[in-house]
Amino acid sequence: MGVAAHAEMPIEKIKSINFPNWLKSFPFIVLHLACLSALFVEFSWSLFYLCLGSYLVRMFGITAGYHRYFSHRAYKTTRWFQFVLAWLGCSALQKGPLWWASHHRDHHKYSDTPEDPHSPHRTSFWWSHVGWVLSNDHADYPGNNIQDFSKYPELRFLSNYHWIPGIFLAVLCYLWMGFPGLVWGFFVSTVLVYHCTFFINSLTHLVGVKRFETSDESRNSLILAILTMGEGWHNNHHHYQSSANQGFYWWEIDLSYYILYGLSCFGIVWELRKPGEKALNFRRRKPIRKKKKKLTKISA
Ligand SMILES: [Zn+2]
Ligand SMILES: [Zn+2]
Repeated sequence: MGVAAHAEMPIEKIKSINFPNWLKSFPFIVLHLACLSALFVEFSWSLFYLCLGSYLVRMFGITAGYHRYFSHRAYKTTRWFQFVLAWLGCSALQKGPLWWASHHRDHHKYSDTPEDPHSPHRTSFWWSHVGWVLSNDHADYPGNNIQDFSKYPELRFLSNYHWIPGIFLAVLCYLWMGFPGLVWGFFVSTVLVYHCTFFINSLTHLVGVKRFETSDESRNSLILAILTMGEGWHNNHHHYQSSANQGFYWWEIDLSYYILYGLSCFGIVWELRKPGEKALNFRRRKPIRKKKKKLTKISA
């Protein structure tokens, strides 16, 4: 299906693959290498659950916080819970909420066009997956994109010192379960959150099903939706960006939305936006069928 998507869109490689900023990428590379230490640590189920818990909490910070709240304002919450979401997102070490949301808003504004910061159709899989994060090209963020949140001093603080929550988590894992806890709860878990998040920028514009006619090449993928707590319904999301749920039907698993719904029952978040019937039925992509060749009789 990804190959078909390429065929539909003229591929114009407008960006050369710039080398990463190696100095700034050093912690990212070290984190990957540190995962190898898992081979020298005795496995236990408590370490597995620590890794899973650390993964789920931080993935929620990215999906429900950085993405659905800071980028799309898909629901409302209090100022203190807004800070909690920013803290959880920062603990995934994907820079601050203002940087993340500002670039993501550009992704939607220019999706799969030359101005898109990470389109695999305009550059390469490598660039859309991780190259754009590591390069100097996107080290800063367009501030005018995110003025609605940059007015909060606590968010500006977290954006400037976005590494603090990640270091805090690493220390917590170490104090709780020693070096094995640091390895599984922080090193391995962080790298898993990295690549599963990055798959949304790379793979969901290449592989999957396109339910809605959108101006980009976004796709829906069940596997990626499971891995990313609901973000794999990316074509749904490009179709109706401000929705708090990205799985539009009961069978489209969306763990982030289930948690948000639970939080709304306690009044922690509210006004969860959802698409109405009109949006759900609007410009639905028809299945592509090959046209049968009409046999025309040729009279002699
Ligand atoms: Zn996208
Ligand atoms: Zn989005």
